[in-house]
Amino acid sequence: MDYKLIINKIRDLYNSSSDYFIPLHAPVFCGNEKKYLNDCIDSTFVSSVGKYVDRFEEMIAEYTGSQKAVACVNGTNALHLALLLSGVERNDEVITQSLTFIATANAISYTGAIPVFLDVDKETMGLSPKATESWLSKNAEIKKGSCFNINTGRRIKACVPMHTFGHPVLIAELVEVCEKYKIELIEDAAESLGSFYKGKHTGTFSKVGILSFNGNKTITTGGGGMLLFNDLALAAKAKHLTTQAKVPHQWEFVHDEIGYNYRMPNINAAIGCAQLEKIDLILENKRQIANQYKEFFNNKEGISFFSEPKNARSNYWLNVIVMADKIERDQFLEFSNSNGVMTRPIWKLMHKLPMFENCQTDSMTNSVWFEERVVNIPSSVVL
Ligand SMILES: *Cc1c(COP(=O)(O)O)cnc(C)c1O
Repeated sequence: MDYKLIINKIRDLYNSSSDYFIPLHAPVFCGNEKKYLNDCIDSTFVSSVGKYVDRFEEMIAEYTGSQKAVACVNGTNALHLALLLSGVERNDEVITQSLTFIATANAISYTGAIPVFLDVDKETMGLSPKATESWLSKNAEIKKGSCFNINTGRRIKACVPMHTFGHPVLIAELVEVCEKYKIELIEDAAESLGSFYKGKHTGTFSKVGILSFNGNKTITTGGGGMLLFNDLALAAKAKHLTTQAKVPHQWEFVHDEIGYNYRMPNINAAIGCAQLEKIDLILENKRQIANQYKEFFNNKEGISFFSEPKNARSNYWLNVIVMADKIERDQFLEFSNSNGVMTRPIWKLMHKLPMFENCQTDSMTNSVWFEERVVNIPSSVVL
């Protein structure tokens, strides 16, 4: 297919002339951002104390249908805490998908646990419940209520699926597999604010889920993350750990365990409140862009547009096209990027990176298939 046609379509969508650079995903500020930021500065509460942190947590809990949300300084350390709160310890094993952003695997490593990388489903680009069950049936046994790897002797403590580019994984099936094998489930919903599986928000199917508000995500706080809980006691523990495990007291400084400074500053939360007020508009707009791409790529030979899976409503965070093969992918990446339209291949698979190349894996058929073909195309909101 003529790549020029695709570039023209993208330029058309973004109302842009041919010398104007189109980024992959730029944030939009169309609400109360400046007003709330000014309010922070006027009040002097710009740091880790202030009303916007509480307000943002409440707004996110309400929007996602969680019992409680706890703000963090970014999504990666929200994930680190989620693993700690799930009881993941040094030398445990944690199952995740190889087709993910590095933060997922890094957070597992921060706990001293060792990732196990499994394949994704063709329909979701996320961790496959079948692949997970199959690997566990060959490698795991349950002893005294915990799951152990029969080859390494290590405990398999948790499983971290990721909702790739906002497309929900088969989360209900993963819940079942994890229950059967006595494994904690933690959803990396960093990319999927506004994505639902069977009407339930992603990140709320497990005891702990996390969101990210980095600059390129669906909404941003500059940098930021959020932990989602259905268990209030666990949420209270999370708040404690994010604030250096300080025992609340008006003036005394007493800490009762090793904690972290993972708090989101008020100034970031202020932006978050303003952004979340516009979430419906943002999601509606992203869906319209996705629909236009979908229509355009319909019946185009050798390229397909990746649509939301069955039973799911996706936020269409980053739109995905799947090229015929690696050669086409590389040619299109070269053409689009040298013509001022930013496009990107999917991440290199985790188990191929030097720090993870000795980790356990299983069949990677679908992950490799996506790795060679996926291209992200511009997905910013157009107002
Ligand atoms: C963005 C992202 C995170 C968290 O990123 P931060 O930049 O630390 O907020 C984690 N996992 C995935 C899959 C992500 O895309």
